[in-house]
Amino acid sequence: MHFVDLEAQQKRIVHTIEANIQKVLHHGKYIMGPEVEELETRLAKYAGVKHAIACASGTDALLLALMAYNTSPGHGILTTPFTFIASSEVISLLGGVPVFVDVDPVTFNIDPEKLEQTIHSYKTSDISLKGIIPVDIFGIPADYDAINAIAEKHGLFVIEDAAQSFGAEYKGKKSCALADIACTSFFPAKPLGCYGDGGMCFTDNDNLAEILGSIRLHGKGSFKYDNVRIGINGRLDTLQAAILLAKFEIFPEEIKLRNQAAQRYNSLLSSQKSIIPPQTPEGIKSAWAQYSILLKDEDHRSQIQENLKNAGIPSAVYYPRPLHLQSAFVDLNYKQGDFPVSEEICKRILSIPMHPYLTYDDQKKVINAILNKESENE
Ligand SMILES: *Cc1c(COP(=O)(O)O)cnc(C)c1O
Repeated sequence: MHFVDLEAQQKRIVHTIEANIQKVLHHGKYIMGPEVEELETRLAKYAGVKHAIACASGTDALLLALMAYNTSPGHGILTTPFTFIASSEVISLLGGVPVFVDVDPVTFNIDPEKLEQTIHSYKTSDISLKGIIPVDIFGIPADYDAINAIAEKHGLFVIEDAAQSFGAEYKGKKSCALADIACTSFFPAKPLGCYGDGGMCFTDNDNLAEILGSIRLHGKGSFKYDNVRIGINGRLDTLQAAILLAKFEIFPEEIKLRNQAAQRYNSLLSSQKSIIPPQTPEGIKSAWAQYSILLKDEDHRSQIQENLKNAGIPSAVYYPRPLHLQSAFVDLNYKQGDFPVSEEICKRILSIPMHPYLTYDDQKKVINAILNKESENE
């Protein structure tokens, strides 16, 4: 059984993928070819956002967004410690300071109440808070109504880390349309993945769109050798755009299939008390980047991991260690106990196979492997 089944997906669209690659080989525009702009147009329309700026990875998308806001030493950016390192490393890379805020125990996304408290506690600090990077963890959008209201009140920008949530919905809006700038990733295992690295920024703001596009191309001005700001080489390869165009044709259907798979897991787990399935708040549709269950404690998780392993079923822990306890961030002077909710989730979370091509039989096998051990214990 696969954790993510890219083979089954490829089988469905292999002819389109090959034809799209052939087109690129034929026209030879490997850098910023027509497929890049076509992909930007299509994904912007899907997300309901005016501008999309394709780039080299999800990490670069976040970097471009922070650079567009001139993030510099002494600037504090609020974000969550329960995420992948990329959400925070880009802040440090620019000399900024990641300011962590604990997450909500139900959605595992940044907790708006604690966000507001943290902002108040920094009022007298040397660090000047500039923005917020909420992360839509596992594909579930954070609470943007609350977050955007807090941001507006305190004059902060909001960058949606939508690396895991492309295709999700929040109160009738699509993920990537929920903040000033949104950043997604096309890493192969993400809901919409390419065959290498890729990413995209989204914004409704014309000025930000122009700046993001310029930074992506070495700070380009009116022509290639007119450099008006410091930028990066942050382009998406034409070949990856061509592959994404083929994959995007079946993407809306794949999101539906992921949802159906999630519903089936939910009902297979419904008689359980010791396993908490993912909780999707009212008005939110997950993109189901992961189906992550919350177990009783670390021992319980080890047992279930072992059960799954014995049954030949892959599972993964996202994430075993919160960012405030990573060696890379020792200089921030955080310690164990600072963000108890994130620390606790890191001990109890477990992600099980999730992709559009999971069958009911596969899912029964997964749940049986988990529950057999359960019944032995009770
Ligand atoms: C994957 C991921 C990223 C980084 O994306 P890459 O394309 O791998 O650079 C950033 N944030 C989160 C939450 C992610 O899951």
